[in-house]
Amino acid sequence: MHHITLIPGDGIGPEVADAARRVLDATGISFNWEIRNAGAAQIALHGTPLPEDTLASVEKNRIALKGPITTPKGTGISSVNVELRKKYDLYANLHPIKTYPAIPSKYDHVDLVIIRENTEDLYAGIEFMVGTDTAQSIKIFTRKGCERIVRFAFEYALNNSRKKVTAVHKANIMKCTDGMFLEVANYIAKDYPTIEYEDMIVDAMCMRLVQYPERYDVLVLPNLYGDIVSDLCAGLVGGIGVTPGANIGTDISIFEAIHGTAPDIAGKGIANPIALILSGVMMLRLLNEVKAAERIEQAINKTLLEGKRLTFDL
Ligand code: ATP
Repeated sequence: MHHITLIPGDGIGPEVADAARRVLDATGISFNWEIRNAGAAQIALHGTPLPEDTLASVEKNRIALKGPITTPKGTGISSVNVELRKKYDLYANLHPIKTYPAIPSKYDHVDLVIIRENTEDLYAGIEFMVGTDTAQSIKIFTRKGCERIVRFAFEYALNNSRKKVTAVHKANIMKCTDGMFLEVANYIAKDYPTIEYEDMIVDAMCMRLVQYPERYDVLVLPNLYGDIVSDLCAGLVGGIGVTPGANIGTDISIFEAIHGTAPDIAGKGIANPIALILSGVMMLRLLNEVKAAERIEQAINKTLLEGKRLTFDL
């Protein structure tokens, strides 16, 4: 029996979370789902979008499957996603990006994994005004942060039969921050002689990904570039409705799709649940339930190929 905290979230979250839970249950694997709330509706009830009993459940089970959550704009309330990543030091954000034969795309053979640093960079949230007309934001990189994400990427490559790691940066301009990220990647790569290694400047990387995505395997990126390149890559293979994700720390892992709350389609029963179902597949692999993970992937492929009940985004 696996004890999992299920956080349905806001907008389309409850719909896609319900679909994902039903599919995971249908594998026959036994789950004890602890359903806990987080999100906009919790603020009125608890004064915070992240109630204590939700955090307690995540800390007890150490694995959560989570729907998207709204960050209220202009309220001073910080993003639940960023809070969870910081609180539990979920330093690695993973997005497998893969072509599905049944989903129309200009690209045929994309199969890459984005590994994004999740806790540092401009997402540290240190921003302030200097007077009234100048705004500053501080970009923080630590050697420890760079080392652990780059090592994570190489270990991932090694353990998942991946052949190449590409470190993505802008070290030509930001010589301290991105410069350190590149320096760290260069020396850690030497510990993995069987994995091909290269580095690439982020703007060139974007162009290359649009031209030749099939040439890339594992990409490791600082937080901001990782955020942007994840969506770019999702767009190569059918969009955010089919792109799963995982936030991994040393002790706790939270699985969530790349998409947001999609308020424009919430409650209509038309949201694509595949991204969260595939996030559940990533969770199954972490739980060592590999056969069940494969069966769900096959079922998704089969359903897509049948093409009878596709959501509108496909
Ligand atoms: P948020 O502010 O929570 O990020 P958003 O609407 O700005 O919400 P997304 O939720 O990522 O951003 O949605 C962007 C677009 O993609 C929307 O038009 C939405 O309807 C569509 N979309 C997002 N997720 C899905 C999905 N699972 N299935 C179908 N369409 C989706």
